Amino acid sequence: MLDNLRVLFIASEAAPYAKTGGLGDVAGALPAYLNQAGVKVKTVIPLYQSIDRERYSINLLFNSSCVKMGNCEEFYSVYHTNIPNGNDVYFIDFEKYFKRAGIYFDANGDYRDSAYRYSFLCRAAMQLAKDLNFKPDIIHANDWQTSFACYYLKSDNDEFFSNTKSVFTIHNIGYQGIYEPDVLDYAKIRYDDFSSWGFESFGKLNLMKAGICFADKITTVSPHYAQEILGPIGSNGLHMYLEARKNDLIGILNGCDTKVWNPATDKYIPANYDLNSYKTGKAFNKKILQNMFLLQENPNVPIFSFIARLTPQKGIDLLAPVVERVINSMACQIVFLGSGEEWAQWFFGGLPARYPGKIGAYIGYSEDKSHLIEAGSDFFLMPSIYEPCGLNQMYSQLYGTLPIVRATGGLDDTVDNYNEQTSIGTGFKFWDISVDALYNTIGWANATYYDRKDDMHNMIREAMIKDYSWEKACAKYIKLYQELITWK
Ligand code: ADP
Repeated sequence: MLDNLRVLFIASEAAPYAKTGGLGDVAGALPAYLNQAGVKVKTVIPLYQSIDRERYSINLLFNSSCVKMGNCEEFYSVYHTNIPNGNDVYFIDFEKYFKRAGIYFDANGDYRDSAYRYSFLCRAAMQLAKDLNFKPDIIHANDWQTSFACYYLKSDNDEFFSNTKSVFTIHNIGYQGIYEPDVLDYAKIRYDDFSSWGFESFGKLNLMKAGICFADKITTVSPHYAQEILGPIGSNGLHMYLEARKNDLIGILNGCDTKVWNPATDKYIPANYDLNSYKTGKAFNKKILQNMFLLQENPNVPIFSFIARLTPQKGIDLLAPVVERVINSMACQIVFLGSGEEWAQWFFGGLPARYPGKIGAYIGYSEDKSHLIEAGSDFFLMPSIYEPCGLNQMYSQLYGTLPIVRATGGLDDTVDNYNEQTSIGTGFKFWDISVDALYNTIGWANATYYDRKDDMHNMIREAMIKDYSWEKACAKYIKLYQELITWK
């Protein structure tokens, strides 16, 4: 029955080809797992300059496709691969928009023409469906970049898509895609739809809002975040629109791609391990991690680690004042991996020189280091101000690295707070957005490491057996798709 279910999945990034964060992880994994479940999915992303065509055998499929944008005809090529996981991925190759140093920004800042870039992507993706004669039951769009597709389904009245419904997934409502309205003609947005119930917001274009208004169903990436975005703070001001669509909004927790994130098979880590061998496995990885980050080699000191985009969302304003307090008052080591705001790069990147042997940092993006850090650390820091789902706290638990999280969004859904009476839990939670709350919680974890070793052992075991499988998430998406199809 699922054989008949066809999904056109459009995203601005997808792992392993191009990834800047959780959206990339999801767009890489979800279609592949849906495919595995029998759904026919075709994923479409841009062919960015950074994508390694050779490595993933990305080959030319069509070399002179065309879409009409405003008054111009844009000619582009389409590439295809189904490596590494059998999922059909199509790449839109259009140099004017995608052959650039970055994905969303470069050293000179954000690309200001991104509304042009992604309206074109959506048009090209829908044209591709036609060129392949692939009539989708569902167009699954992701975040503001692809909200145009939900709109085009409604505004075009195209016979080809007459039975197609749209699902719009909000991965992070903190990024809404706000641009000048000069793109209206190019993107073929009717002036009537540049209105409150549509694209307009304070005289500008708000692409996230358009997705909320025009999609048939809206999902977000955890049940808790689905609640939070109904409020003014959690929604960054879009709560009224979400409130109006409340009956079509559902929170589906992301899964973890355990083909990539599994300590028993992880290709990036020196010692693979499972529930029975975690002590020796993690000890070996810790040693390598300590060497890589020039930390004192010591098996008996806990390592706290942090991997994230260095943005306020990730709690860097709490973390920065806490680090030195922690390192001066607790016997521990700390590792940072991330890039982002300039002050934060200087601050966190400068700590190893000030605390040699105790703090390590790598400013930049590194897939292999991120795996080693998860495998070799004892605790993982996620003091996020908000977190739609969050993936690293899930990876951490599977790797036996206990997360320290602020109880928000998906972090609250996925981490069980340690209970000293019952010895049960998989991590440590705090609620207040305050430096003291973070400091005290790190202290609580540190004391647990030294004083309650049996509890640590119980928690690690409990964490490692958690089920964050994509199969579970997929079943929910399939149910949603099927509900939509019966609307026909
Ligand atoms: P977000 O999507 O808000 O960035 P998530 O926790 O959902 O946060 O996903 C972040 C993903 O990006 C994780 O897979 C994380 O390991 C990865 N990541 C973030 N920064 C880096 C980095 N500097 N190097 C390697 N991986 C990183």
